[in-house]
Amino acid sequence: MPILLLTYKGNISMSAQKNVSDNAQKSALFGTYARSEVVFESGKGMRLYSTDGEAYLDFMAGIGVNLMGHSHPDIVKAMRTQGEKLWHLSNVFTIPGAERLAQRLVDNSFADAVFFGNSGSEAIECALKTARHYYFDLGEPHKNEIIAFTGSFHGRTLGGIAAGGNPAYREGFAPLPGGFVHIAPGDLNAVEAAINPNTAAILIEPVQGEGGVLDMGDSFLQGLRTLCDKHDLLLILDEVQTGYGRTGKFFAHEWAGIEPDIMCVAKGIGAGFPLGACLATEKVAKSMVPGTHASTYGGNPLACAIGNAVLDQVLEPGFIEHVDKMGNVLAWHMRQLMQKFPNLVLDVRGKGLMVGMKITPPIRDFVDLLREHKLLCVAAGDNVLRLLPPLIVQESDIIEAFEKIGLALTQVQADLSPKDE
Ligand SMILES: *Cc1c(COP(=O)(O)O)cnc(C)c1O
Repeated sequence: MPILLLTYKGNISMSAQKNVSDNAQKSALFGTYARSEVVFESGKGMRLYSTDGEAYLDFMAGIGVNLMGHSHPDIVKAMRTQGEKLWHLSNVFTIPGAERLAQRLVDNSFADAVFFGNSGSEAIECALKTARHYYFDLGEPHKNEIIAFTGSFHGRTLGGIAAGGNPAYREGFAPLPGGFVHIAPGDLNAVEAAINPNTAAILIEPVQGEGGVLDMGDSFLQGLRTLCDKHDLLLILDEVQTGYGRTGKFFAHEWAGIEPDIMCVAKGIGAGFPLGACLATEKVAKSMVPGTHASTYGGNPLACAIGNAVLDQVLEPGFIEHVDKMGNVLAWHMRQLMQKFPNLVLDVRGKGLMVGMKITPPIRDFVDLLREHKLLCVAAGDNVLRLLPPLIVQESDIIEAFEKIGLALTQVQADLSPKDE
């Protein structure tokens, strides 16, 4: 009876809603988040510890951020060492840590140059500006339109919501920057039909994260690269969530064997310290001359010291192979649950350690229920339970997480079954 399952509302949901409203009443923060009332005071590796002394298994990593888990000793040490010397300088000075981090990113990717910001949204803004300025410099300022995809997420700035494929995020924020068209992903003919003399670029996440952990597929990405070459467009990849080893390659586009012209990276790059980057080829980046773009904090000494320490870990031989291996273990456990609960688990998706399960119980309630089982996960669009564990996750952690998810599904199943009394 799948129809009934969709309307399931357990006790969990009521208590969770109460917590949220109690919290909202006390808080001086904008009410932009439905916050849980649990308060964490420390973290170590895969675990987070709450003020009431409970340990939680972290399978969300601050939404794909804490790559190395919590309080990784080498990253804490880099933060301390730099923190005692120098935190911030203006970008009017040479910052050796930023030079080094940029060079290492260039050495390990398609890119020739890097712009540092502090977040994913800023990386997107830089990418959009770079694409438009490139054609402006070529004397083709009319080439300023960007093709993006329905269901995509590119951050919450005005540019980000205009580029993103979620109309709900745009509502109430008009007027938005123009020049974006949205096509359903997967249909190369529809993309080609949308290309016109004003098109500058195609923007896509290799795996849609927020939208429901949907892999855009190697052949679609390859097709987009071909279209960009054929029609003189730039390919912009949003690897804010997929990058830095998350999918089992350093960058997710490596699976498809293609290269972008511009790429956005954030989330994992600082493993919890605010840092973002826009990477580009020399051809494109050389258009961004003094005066075209800037960031006060971007690439500051402290952020870059931490960024270099994170990169030391990620580039350690075997590290990304470990992600790929753990991704396969995760996928196996998800498929087991889909077999065991065919009414509750409808689909399993994703790549590496960026995976999701489309379930029938309302996703917010289910995430709350898992938290009661001391497992932290995050929701994604399309009623998907999204799992984004720190990349240091071990098989024993995955087994523990799936025991908890299995228990929660058994509970939901029992609540749904008619009582025989
Ligand atoms: C999180 C995310 C962003 C926005 O990053 P912020 O750091 O929140 O600004 C952009 N694109 C993708 C794919 C993301 O997952």
